[in-house]
Amino acid sequence: MSERADIVIVGGGVVGCSAAWHLRQDGFTGRILVIERDPSYQRASSYLAMGGIRQQFCTPVTVQMVQFSVALWKKFDQTLGTPMKRPHAWFRQRGYLFLANGATSTALTKRYHEEKHAGAVVRMVAVDELRRMLPDVMLDDILFGVLGEEDGYANPREVLAGFRAGAELAGAEFMVDEVTAIEHAQGAVTGVRVAAGTRITAPIVVNAAGPWAGRVAALTGLKVPVEPLRQILFRCTLPHHWPYRFPMLIDPGGVHWRHDDASEPGGPDKIILAFTNWREEIGENFAADEARWQKDFYPAMVNRVPQLRDVTDVHGWSGLYEMTPDHNPVLGPHPDLSGFIFANGFSGHGLMMSPATGKIVSELVRLGRSEMFDVGIFAPDRFARGALVHDAATI
Ligand SMILES: Cc1cc2nc3c(=O)[nH]c(=O)nc-3n(C[C@H](O)[C@H](O)[C@H](O)COP(=O)(O)OP(=O)(O)OC[C@H]3O[C@@H](n4cnc5c(N)ncnc54)[C@H](O)[C@@H]3O)c2cc1C
Repeated sequence: MSERADIVIVGGGVVGCSAAWHLRQDGFTGRILVIERDPSYQRASSYLAMGGIRQQFCTPVTVQMVQFSVALWKKFDQTLGTPMKRPHAWFRQRGYLFLANGATSTALTKRYHEEKHAGAVVRMVAVDELRRMLPDVMLDDILFGVLGEEDGYANPREVLAGFRAGAELAGAEFMVDEVTAIEHAQGAVTGVRVAAGTRITAPIVVNAAGPWAGRVAALTGLKVPVEPLRQILFRCTLPHHWPYRFPMLIDPGGVHWRHDDASEPGGPDKIILAFTNWREEIGENFAADEARWQKDFYPAMVNRVPQLRDVTDVHGWSGLYEMTPDHNPVLGPHPDLSGFIFANGFSGHGLMMSPATGKIVSELVRLGRSEMFDVGIFAPDRFARGALVHDAATI
């Protein structure tokens, strides 16, 4: 069996769906085929993410991408979907607040200046102000905070559902199957094959396969270092309704949490916590490892907010970060294979900038170049060239 599309997008997570939606928004009329092997998204990063959205980065183009994205996050529910069925992305601009102690203050001050220089909206907050903002947070060891007031968080599953519904409504087609081969001839992509045996010819293939993007790239013979790394999150119920809402609050040791408000009035008040273990082994490990709660999360949380000692209903889960060696995305066409576009490698930050990523893919497909954002530094061959892009603001 054989069919034809004008563009095939491998992976229907937030990146693939945003790309499909933006293409249609920008007037692309060709056939868009998104191939997603698991429409339940049980293992997709978009489904398992924390939902943090921040512009506190040190690289100007990254800051610009998040700022562009925030403009859509603010009106996401109205823009995606229909009056009959709206997503509830629940974007809350409650801020991202990094707390600095004696061990981290020098690095955080340097980073703050780099972020300002890169164009981020961010400010230093004195301890007195922190005490007013967060009355029950233990601040005796804290020297200052760095706050991004326009930052915040959203509900990842609603974002995914919203982008997907929006893309479908706009006329993008979705196929449930696994891309098992990418065909090419004379240095140009010609199509894909899926597990069911169908061959789809297409002049453009977008690799939006998240943590599996390195594997999808390898189907063409290209080696691009995007590797899966487990990230564990926990959700727990607060001992009582909290009198204020937490920003994304980042303890100097790295444990961070945000509010997860009750979906119904009077429902339990919850938080979601994360802590990146940089010693985690590369691989497709989805084990929740509940022992990490007692070892890494609970002590740091209670040390910072003693009143949280009585949290209940602790539940852990894990998903995969899509790591690159410099923790920055892989964006753009590969110079060795015309028509093969990368939109992956976000290293744990891909949800927040997925609107901008969709726009970039749309421009690359329609115009042959990214006009709104200068993403040349994120080119897929930068690893082979040794042109890595380091950003101190990865957590
Ligand atoms: C625990 C956790 C917390 C995170 N927290 C944040 C956060 O706070 N903020 C933030 O911005 N980002 C966060 N991230 C990262 C963010 O989730 C990802 O960067 C983003 O979701 C990437 O989207 P995606 O569409 O590229 O990947 P995915 O959502 O993983 O989608 C890729 C899809 O490709 C499909 N696929 C793969 N290979 C094939 C194939 N061969 N054929 C067909 N389909 C295929 C998969 O089934 C999958 O559905 C977090 C990630 C995790 C795991």
